[in-house]
Amino acid sequence: MNLLAQEEILIVDDNPANLAVLSQVLKSVGLKVRVATDGTSAIAQSEYDPPALILLDIMMEGIDGFETCRQLKANLKTQLIPIIFITALEDTEDKVKGLSLGAVDYITKPFQALEVLARVQVHLQLQLLAKKIIQQNQELEKANQQLQYLVNFDGLTQVANRRHFDRYIQQEWGRLQREKQPLSLILCDIDYFKNYNDYYGHPAGDDCLKKVAEALKNAVKRSSDLVCRYGGEEFAIILPNTDLAGAIKITQLIQLTIKELKLVHDRSPINKNITVSLGISSEIPHQQSSVKFLINAADTALYQAKEQGRDRYHLFP
Ligand code: GH3
Ligand code: MG
Ligand code: MG
Repeated sequence: MNLLAQEEILIVDDNPANLAVLSQVLKSVGLKVRVATDGTSAIAQSEYDPPALILLDIMMEGIDGFETCRQLKANLKTQLIPIIFITALEDTEDKVKGLSLGAVDYITKPFQALEVLARVQVHLQLQLLAKKIIQQNQELEKANQQLQYLVNFDGLTQVANRRHFDRYIQQEWGRLQREKQPLSLILCDIDYFKNYNDYYGHPAGDDCLKKVAEALKNAVKRSSDLVCRYGGEEFAIILPNTDLAGAIKITQLIQLTIKELKLVHDRSPINKNITVSLGISSEIPHQQSSVKFLINAADTALYQAKEQGRDRYHLFP
């Protein structure tokens, strides 16, 4: 009851005697009461400051209780407020009509104080529970989104993780096989990164990884392109509906973007700044091939780029 006493009840009735009796009954148990003497002002104040519950008379000047109820239920701001109709004892038709319009209950005239209180309290309690469930659902939804993010994205670089990579490339392989469209893959590995870590320290190495990941994200354009952290200092870029020529263009753009970062690497034997080596593979998925083949091809190409001096890209086959 303590909790419920915080709640405000709106009584809508054009009969001052009714208003007085009901107000007194509700106030007697500590409930707060507001009144309106016509439907239009009841709707206006419910919109502006929604009460916890509305007691609504049917016969009123202007718009009647049914129409008031209809409008309250049609309005996003007021549709969740429980409405209890005030009807005459013998008016079964009115009770049914009120309930069919979305009211949760009815009370009958002449008022029985204990019954009025019992019904009001039940519906306040139900409303409180409903609010709690809605709030819990929202919290659950949010936690679920965060979890989805943690499951699919790399905590350090904020690009997709290996798990996301595995699922996405398999999914796109299947889709593009049906569509007979090309799928390209770029593997991108930072050159002499062990030297970088050893010389600048692990935190600086982490920072460098973040910047490279950001540069990779900036180099790809389509929402279907996916940048992933494939391993320690190795990234993968999945490019659906992209042929070899397109993949080469992206690769060159990546090289340029990394170059523009100008991340000083004093322990690189080949350049004063951080460089990357890249391997590209591309094919139109078909039955005789596989995702594994596409990945191996990009890996072989990357190996060749390393072998031939790093800071370059290679294609395979
Ligand atoms: P290569 O040019 O042949 O690629 O040489 P490399 O030194 O880049 O390659 P290697 O595989 O020998 O070393 C990779 C290094 O990447 C080892 C490790 O110190 C570093 N590394 C991997 N993951 C992380 C990470 O999460 N943070 C940091 N700071 N360093 C990492
Ligand atoms: Mg490396
Ligand atoms: Mg490596």
